[in-house]
Amino acid sequence: MTSPDRPDAANCSSCEAVCCRLMVVLQPEDAIPDHLTTYTPEGLRVMKRGEDGWCVALNSVRMNCGIYETRPNVCRRFVMNGPYCRAIREDYSRSGAAAHALHESNT
Ligand code: SF4
Ligand code: SF4
Repeated sequence: MTSPDRPDAANCSSCEAVCCRLMVVLQPEDAIPDHLTTYTPEGLRVMKRGEDGWCVALNSVRMNCGIYETRPNVCRRFVMNGPYCRAIREDYSRSGAAAHALHESNT
């Protein structure tokens, strides 16, 4: 198992915020301003993403969350260097894509 102390461990401070390129599915209890959100064709309320592929709430200078204190619950539960973090980073480094959705079932 990869330990956070190992040099190959994923670390947010040296990551291109790959998880912030995922589709973030919001829950009713998430208090996110409407201008940062949109709806999928299926009717799910999600964080809006910019043309660059990142969540519009990302602070693109610091590459960290611009609404950290009020970020969605699913973002709070995303585990740095957890299996899903490592999987999307691997996808991203291979293809530049992070085509998964971030929702309740995979945090
Ligand atoms: S949780 Fe993982 S994918 Fe997200 S910024 Fe941190 S290291 Fe990168
Ligand atoms: S709300 Fe914040 S933590 Fe969640 S995807 Fe957007 S920028 Fe990343």
